[in-house]
Amino acid sequence: MLRDVFVRLASTAAALARLARDLMIPRGCAGCDMPDRVLCGDCTALMTEHVRFDLPGTLTGEGLACGAYRGPVRHAVLQWKDHGDEECDGPFSRLLADLLTGSGRLDGRPLLLVPAPSTSRSMHERGRWHMRQLTVRMASRLKRDGYGDIAVVPLLRTVGAGGKSVQMSGAAQRAQRLDGHIAVTRRANATGERRQVVLVDDIVTSGATMRYCVDALRRGGYDVLTAVVLAHTPLRRVDPEPAADGNCRSPHPR
Ligand SMILES: [Zn+2]
Repeated sequence: MLRDVFVRLASTAAALARLARDLMIPRGCAGCDMPDRVLCGDCTALMTEHVRFDLPGTLTGEGLACGAYRGPVRHAVLQWKDHGDEECDGPFSRLLADLLTGSGRLDGRPLLLVPAPSTSRSMHERGRWHMRQLTVRMASRLKRDGYGDIAVVPLLRTVGAGGKSVQMSGAAQRAQRLDGHIAVTRRANATGERRQVVLVDDIVTSGATMRYCVDALRRGGYDVLTAVVLAHTPLRRVDPEPAADGNCRSPHPR
């Protein structure tokens, strides 16, 4: 109860701060700062270079990403996720809906979209459960596209795990923190069992966190069709490769 009040207060304060900022500074593309765009055509195109990644435990055995987590895509996702650019909910929900419908994996059965969980600390810092709001927007898009029977149910929650965003610590540490700390809030009932579950997340790095989510859903009695995410992190090189000029290249060139 008290936690909900804090989250609502933080959300209101964050919204007021963003409103003041938006009134003073005209916005640019979240990925490349092109004036007067939420997400420009070039950055949108980078998020339609779809990536498939292994996701054991799902019915399809794989997850799908809108694009690779680097350059303007990385910048756009971080602006949205950690710097309060909520206007990206619009283009990002469109991109995720198109990714899922274009996957060829849907067979007309009712869908159950499950947002990846956030820790209460993350929600407090961001002032919202960003994945839940994005998933609700995605469901609205799918309904407008003619997919009538869609439900968004926040089935997953974190239990006693510390929470930092993905760029603040390594994927391995994040996965280790969350191992055993993701739980399903309710068991599958007759309705849930009929539905195809699709997990929705923002960034997949090693995939370990996502596998914990899939495992928790399966333990709860749900069959997970696949997962859709905004961005997939390419594998990093352990040793930076020397460039021709003798300098090391960044693993994430802008
Ligand atoms: Zn752009």
